[in-house]
Amino acid sequence: MDHVRHLECLVCAKQYGVGDIDYVCPDHGPADGVVDVVYDYGALRASVDRDALSASADRTMFRYRDLLPIEADSPAPPLPIGGTPMWAVPEAGAPLGLRDVWVKDEGRNPTASLKDRASAVAVIKARESGADVVTTASTGNAAAALAGVSASMGQANVIFVPASAPEAKVAQLLAYGATVFLVEGTYDDAYELCLEAADEFGWYNRSTGFNPYMSEGKKTASYEIAETLGWAAPDAVIVSVGDGCIIGGLHKGFFDLHQLGWINHMPRLIGVQAKGSNYLAAAWEDGSDVLTKPPIDAVTVADSISAGLPRDRLKAMRAVVDTSGGYVTVSDDQILAAIPELAERTGVFAEPAAAAGYAGLSGAVEQGLLDRDDRVVVLSTGSGLKDIGAAMKGVAAAGGAARHVRPTLEDLKRQMTETDPKD
Ligand SMILES: *Cc1c(COP(=O)(O)O)cnc(C)c1O
Ligand SMILES: [Zn+2]
Repeated sequence: MDHVRHLECLVCAKQYGVGDIDYVCPDHGPADGVVDVVYDYGALRASVDRDALSASADRTMFRYRDLLPIEADSPAPPLPIGGTPMWAVPEAGAPLGLRDVWVKDEGRNPTASLKDRASAVAVIKARESGADVVTTASTGNAAAALAGVSASMGQANVIFVPASAPEAKVAQLLAYGATVFLVEGTYDDAYELCLEAADEFGWYNRSTGFNPYMSEGKKTASYEIAETLGWAAPDAVIVSVGDGCIIGGLHKGFFDLHQLGWINHMPRLIGVQAKGSNYLAAAWEDGSDVLTKPPIDAVTVADSISAGLPRDRLKAMRAVVDTSGGYVTVSDDQILAAIPELAERTGVFAEPAAAAGYAGLSGAVEQGLLDRDDRVVVLSTGSGLKDIGAAMKGVAAAGGAARHVRPTLEDLKRQMTETDPKD
């Protein structure tokens, strides 16, 4: 980790050596004291070669390990994480008048969400710290990711999710052999309990917006975006936002590449929030200070972006302000509608929180955050198989229904006169 210069508090800019603090700035505590991992870009420029990296046979996120805050000899998880596909989706842009839209499908990660990227780093950091147990609070996906990565490394893990988490996510946790606590309360309640438990029992805490290394794992999505485009940044990236760790991580990834001189501009980052969980969007609109703005009551069908007090709000705000991006909001109906829209137009089946990113495109166009010729990357953050109930609602609202047929050609013909599969 010679290439990490120090950890820096986002509130007071105080600098700490890597070994000096475990997670947050002690002066600002777990609620506000999130720190940034600051690199020595001069040293990285001299030691890391872009062309050699591109020639690497490792297709996982660990092809970028020289740019990650991990020890040189820390083993990567055997579970292959990252290297998700990204491709142009003209059919998805056309209805909005956008000519150059791409999708990157993070649902293709091993536990089916982008959270795998952060959890991989979490288990490595837990091992480096010598902790026996790794823990996290999560709306579901971060937990599934931590449990899955842990399973691949034989790592004991304890999970706190709200009791309302979708069944598929809980099934994943149990199948991976995690110790699971369904917290009778909100995600925010689960978060506080996890903090206390980690402190009490000496567990390594992966929780988002507290552990500074999670955005470092997530930043590898930006590296992949730029590398897929031949080391060029798109004009904009649009992504759903709950705690704000993903958008903060994307920002960090492009920032790294810009500092290294590997890309020549920063893309505008556009965050999409649910109307019922719009803490950051509201703060961006009215310019309020996210250090003093009180929590809101978050209610949305998109469980993965339901956050009353976004834990990574400082990084999330900085991401859009520094890149001249912005925030848009979408209703739950728009989110559910976007599930079949995205699926039909691209082949990507997304969970509600992931479809929210696509749902936000039209608002971003209306708000003038996107131009028709912009190259835009839509990040689809998690698989639709995570929440079948929501998908069925979205499909039903769009008028989609399967037809019953008796197993005879005659009955099939009768049914076919009433439907045209080319529609
Ligand atoms: C966690 C998650 C998000 C939001 O990420 P934050 O870092 O909380 O902003 C979006 N979509 C999916 C599928 C997620 O799991
Ligand atoms: Zn501080």
